[in-house]
Amino acid sequence: MATGKINVSVDNIFPLIKKFLYSDHEIFLRELVSNATDATLKLKHLTSIGEAKVEYGNPLIEVKVDKKGKKLHVIDQGLGMTEEEVKKYINEVAFSGAEEFLNKYEDSAKDAGIIGHFGLGFYSAFMVAHKVEIITKSFQDETAVHWTCDGSPNFTIEESDKKERGTEIILHIADDSTEFLEESRIRELLRKYNKFMPVPIKFGTKTETLPKPEGAKEEDPAPTKEVDNIINNPNPAWTKQPTDLKDEDYKSFYRELYPMQFEEPLFHIHLNVDYPFNLTGILYFPKLTNDLNIQKDKIQLYQNQVFVTDNVEGIVPEFLTMLRGVIDSPDIPLNVSRSYLQADGAVKKISSYITRKVADKLTSLFKNNREDFEKKWNDIKIVIEYGMLSEDKFFEKADKFALYPTVDGAYYTFEELQEKIKGNQTDKDEKMVILYASDKEAQHSYIETAKSKGYEVLLLDSPIIGHLMQKLETTKEKISFARVDADHIDKLIQKEDTQISKLSDEEKEKLKSDLEAVFGEKSNYTIQLEAMDSDASPFVITEPEFLRRMKEMQQTGGGGMFGMGNMPEMYNLIVNTNHELVGEILNTKTAKKKERLINQSLDLAKLSKGLLKGKELTEFIKRSYEMVK
Ligand code: ADP
Ligand code: MG
Repeated sequence: MATGKINVSVDNIFPLIKKFLYSDHEIFLRELVSNATDATLKLKHLTSIGEAKVEYGNPLIEVKVDKKGKKLHVIDQGLGMTEEEVKKYINEVAFSGAEEFLNKYEDSAKDAGIIGHFGLGFYSAFMVAHKVEIITKSFQDETAVHWTCDGSPNFTIEESDKKERGTEIILHIADDSTEFLEESRIRELLRKYNKFMPVPIKFGTKTETLPKPEGAKEEDPAPTKEVDNIINNPNPAWTKQPTDLKDEDYKSFYRELYPMQFEEPLFHIHLNVDYPFNLTGILYFPKLTNDLNIQKDKIQLYQNQVFVTDNVEGIVPEFLTMLRGVIDSPDIPLNVSRSYLQADGAVKKISSYITRKVADKLTSLFKNNREDFEKKWNDIKIVIEYGMLSEDKFFEKADKFALYPTVDGAYYTFEELQEKIKGNQTDKDEKMVILYASDKEAQHSYIETAKSKGYEVLLLDSPIIGHLMQKLETTKEKISFARVDADHIDKLIQKEDTQISKLSDEEKEKLKSDLEAVFGEKSNYTIQLEAMDSDASPFVITEPEFLRRMKEMQQTGGGGMFGMGNMPEMYNLIVNTNHELVGEILNTKTAKKKERLINQSLDLAKLSKGLLKGKELTEFIKRSYEMVK
């Protein structure tokens, strides 16, 4: 037996490793299974090029819990190591790797968030074990070796009688880590990190029911057999060629990724590049509601089929983090902090590649099956609108397929909309006014008024639409958005300069003071006298576009003015001085009757804006009965 001392500058790095990575101890299993996978795939390669003259067969990796013996075994049938190799790769490479990692990590410990603590490798075993053994036999015809290390830099190395090719790692689980002796915990970890690793991983056995033999009686139990319980799918869909996959394959892979998701995805995007960086993956567009809350089923990041994290912030542009699926790339630096990641050139390229692929897919869906695209619009608009707001490159592309639905169920692109309304909805200042509603029911009377003028009314109801309108108003020329209740329709799209008023200035003064006398203290209405068509509504309550939009934008974050969210609603009461009823109010002599007419008119205006409630509504109904008597 030989003993030795590993040459490291830090006397004992294990306590340090343990301390630094306190919350992430579980990654040791991923590291060990990754090594076992590497060793198996290396052997596969060597046999395929004729370097290794051995039968590759159908190798497995086995993970075994020995609760009584307080041990965890990871066994592979890979290329194994000779004594020389153990000394070199374990004592030197792995140790120096761990040391290097530690130095790096120490620097960035404050800047936490190193992705999945990659790079620690074999020595992460010491986060959970007080002693580690390696029993390994190389594919080259040499005696097997047995290496033991108790966590100090001292190790022993001796011969072993292991006959089969491959490596067995034995962890003597430390007293503070006994959770890793629970089968359920290990199963959970294997599912989390190794679900799609490329070599089959066996964890225990399971009972499989076999078909009944011919001539068996009805009551005879079906025969069963114990088979290996393989916990992973070594050939996940994203590693295959898109041409080899059908729509159903993509859907079933989605279910495999998110077993708790019962809703089917709307469509998928297969990512596949190998230059200038290597990346594969499948992204899915889920059905999204207007609820912007972060969902728990997120995009998963893999590296060579090993799960790394489901926090893809910084790798995928923010608006696409609402999608689901998998990204697998060996080119994303993992042992770095998030802030470093965002500045990394390769990562920037990856992010813009993903954005481009998503835009291209949407473009082709739009071009190839417009009808279907329109049907899905409501479920995908949030992502697209968010993307248009946050990524200029995406905006350019999306501007051609982003849809603007009307209250009547037609869908226009911006260009089509412009074509359609330019003639009728351009005001005297050459500005094209795009009318919209956010709620078909609540704004019904305003929508009808706009439609009676032959105007097109959009239905824009997503929570970030205010921000997008703002963006469109600044990028496109001479357009503005206005909600149908933002002003009197003739004011929203003002075509002539002035209408002649039937009332004189004195009469207007009189009317205004009459009105103010009735609803004096209801100060959130600003009275606005306007000379309009005599058949336009006499009283309309409006909510000025600018203030309302700022308020809404602030509720969905950013964009608005500071403190706007707490401001009360502001309404205008537009009074059409050319309307017969308004003239009648002015000329009514009895104060009581005048008051009743004003109240009734105001209530009707409130009613059509959905503002008449409670006591006011009760009084209105009572008064109305009085009047129809
Ligand atoms: P890395 O995997 O990044 O090289 P590790 O610290 O995980 O670093 O492993 C160090 C080295 O030890 C590996 O490169 C490999 O040569 C060797 N090794 C570890 N585990 C095995 C194994 N199961 N079979 C063969 N070689 C192994
Ligand atoms: Mg490794």
